[in-house]
Amino acid sequence: MRFVVPSETVRKGAAIAGAVLGLGWLSGLGAHTAASTRLPPPALGRPAPHLAAGWPAPPAGPLRSRPADGSPAAPTTHDLAARLRYTSWPRGAATASAARPEVDCRKAKCIALTFDDGPGPYTTKLLGMLAAHHVKATFFLIGGSIRGREAVVRRELAEGHAIGDHTWSHPQLSVLSDGAIRSQLTRTLGEIRRATGGGTALMRPPYGATNRRVAVVTRHMGFAQILWSVDTNDWRDRNSAIVAHRAVSWARPGGIILMHDIHPTTVNAVPKILAGLARRGFTFVTVPELFGGRSLKPGQTYFDGPVPRPKNPRKDVAPRPKGPGASPHAAAGTPVSTTGGAPPGR
Ligand SMILES: [Zn+2]
Repeated sequence: MRFVVPSETVRKGAAIAGAVLGLGWLSGLGAHTAASTRLPPPALGRPAPHLAAGWPAPPAGPLRSRPADGSPAAPTTHDLAARLRYTSWPRGAATASAARPEVDCRKAKCIALTFDDGPGPYTTKLLGMLAAHHVKATFFLIGGSIRGREAVVRRELAEGHAIGDHTWSHPQLSVLSDGAIRSQLTRTLGEIRRATGGGTALMRPPYGATNRRVAVVTRHMGFAQILWSVDTNDWRDRNSAIVAHRAVSWARPGGIILMHDIHPTTVNAVPKILAGLARRGFTFVTVPELFGGRSLKPGQTYFDGPVPRPKNPRKDVAPRPKGPGASPHAAAGTPVSTTGGAPPGR
């Protein structure tokens, strides 16, 4: 049984949606098993392992302060912004990306394509399509799917895409214990590091199911929570024309589009999506590029990035357009409180 309701309505009923959509995700992934993983949680107060090793030193900034609640100090936003610039590029891959000029999404009309739940059997085909059009995207990876496809993950990075942590077995994090949340993220991070030699400071909670506890754990681990502003519902509607139409017509400047590279119908929709969005004047960016030098706070939830500044503020101040797939959050790039319940997702 499935619900078919507008996405903004679903955002408010995430607990139900999570349970229902969980079945959809599992069926979509085929043989994937939801094995529980119980790795020992990293000790808080020490730098998260992926942040401690291998990353360039953050620029000099203010001293870290201890939060008022006595919890260990999280990385400063300044630190995270510095690390995000390197999220896409593990050591040795920097030269491959050097030719790409920096995009300023406060000036350009940017859009971030994101693909979840891979790597999968169609990811290589997708990478070929993206490379043919020099388009960069962001992949949120399932740790349990990386083994055997390490070369695909390395290729994602080598070709300039960004990657993020999408947990080990795709559970609804908001109902797990803190230790289980950490384990889901840590284990996947280990696989990413094993495959690529680098880490990531981006994560996406499965189904978009996040809450205050997920925010606290991800803050301590140094992850920004990246949600989305356009949900193509490609997991439900396995129809390339429908998926392409939604991605192209619901896109707004600064938007983050949610898709899944485990569905062949989605991958086959990509050429139309690229052509349609290019025709609308969008510049394709990775999630780190979308936020540029902005400070992404660990633990905070982001639904979209900045919008271009109007050229003439007196004449051209328009409210953020609203559409069927548009974010319900008014301020572009503004961190959203995670206390109001979990939005839906896949
Ligand atoms: Zn997912």
